Amino acid sequence: MIIENSPIILSVQGLHASINGTEILKGIDLTVKSGEIHAIMGLNGSGKSTLAKVLAGHSAYEVTAGSVRFEDKNLLELPPEERAQAGLFLAFQYPIEIPGVANTQFLRLAYNTVQTQRGKEELDPLEFDDFVREKMKLLDMKPDFLDRSVNEGFSGGEKKRNEILQMALLEPKLSILDETDSGLDIDALKIVANGVNRIANKDNAIVLVTHYQRLLDYIVPDYVHIMQAGRIVMTGNKELARELETRGYDWVSANKQAENGVRA
Ligand code: ADP
Ligand code: MG
Repeated sequence: MIIENSPIILSVQGLHASINGTEILKGIDLTVKSGEIHAIMGLNGSGKSTLAKVLAGHSAYEVTAGSVRFEDKNLLELPPEERAQAGLFLAFQYPIEIPGVANTQFLRLAYNTVQTQRGKEELDPLEFDDFVREKMKLLDMKPDFLDRSVNEGFSGGEKKRNEILQMALLEPKLSILDETDSGLDIDALKIVANGVNRIANKDNAIVLVTHYQRLLDYIVPDYVHIMQAGRIVMTGNKELARELETRGYDWVSANKQAENGVRA
C-alpha cells in the first residue's frame, strides 16, 4: 500500500555494476517506501537477478558507480550477513541445497542470529518448533519439511515455499523475491502469494522480480518497473503489468517514457 509520508526503506541512485568486467547494471534508480510492494519485470537477461544479487551483496559483482541506502545505512559498505541482519532478505531464483543439515536447524540458526542482532531472546529447539509450526500453517507446509535436509530433493514449489517460510520467520524490512513464481503450478502459486500477502504490512516492503503478470494477479503491486538492458525504462502502477501482457516487450522499446506513470 502507498502511505503518505511513509519512511524510505531503500534508495538506489545511479547504480552501475559489473561482472568480470562486463557492465550489467547501467544506472538504476529505485525508491521503496515502507508499506509498498514493487514489481520489477523484464525479459531474460535484462539484469533483474543482477540487481537483486548486488543488493544482497553477492561477491561476484563489482559496483562501479552509484549509491544504495537501506534505512539509515550505506548498504554497499555492509558485508552480506550484515545486510541480512539489518533486515534485507533475498529469496533466490535458484535456492541452494544443503545436504546433511536439517531444515529446522538451519531455520533456527537463521532466526536466532537475527533475534540476537535485534536484542531479542533466542528460542531453544522446543520453543522454535512451536513457533515454526505456526508459521508453516500459513504456507500449507507439511511438518516433515522440518526434518529434511535444506532444500535437498525439494520440488521447485517446495523450495519456493521454504524461501517464503524463511521470510515469515525473519520478518525482514525489505524482501526481494526473485522469480518466486517460476516453476510453480497454480495452487502452489496461490499458496506462496497468500503467504507473501500475509507477511506484507505497513512496516515492511516487498520487491517482486517476475517475468510474468500471472503472479501479480495474486500479489498486487503498488508500482511496476520494467527493466531493459540494465536500466529501469518504465515505471507505472499495476495496470502497466497488464499492458505489458497484452502489448509485449516490443511496445516498451517503442515507448520508453511511462504513460501510465505514477513516477517516471
Ligand atoms: P535477468 O534476471 O533479468 O534474466 P540477469 O541479471 O540474470 O538477468 O543477467 C543479466 C545479464 O548479465 C545477462 O545478459 C547475462 O548474460 C549477463 N551475465 C550474467 N552472468 C554473467 C557473467 N558471469 N559474465 C558476463 N555476463 C554475465
Ligand atoms: Mg533472473
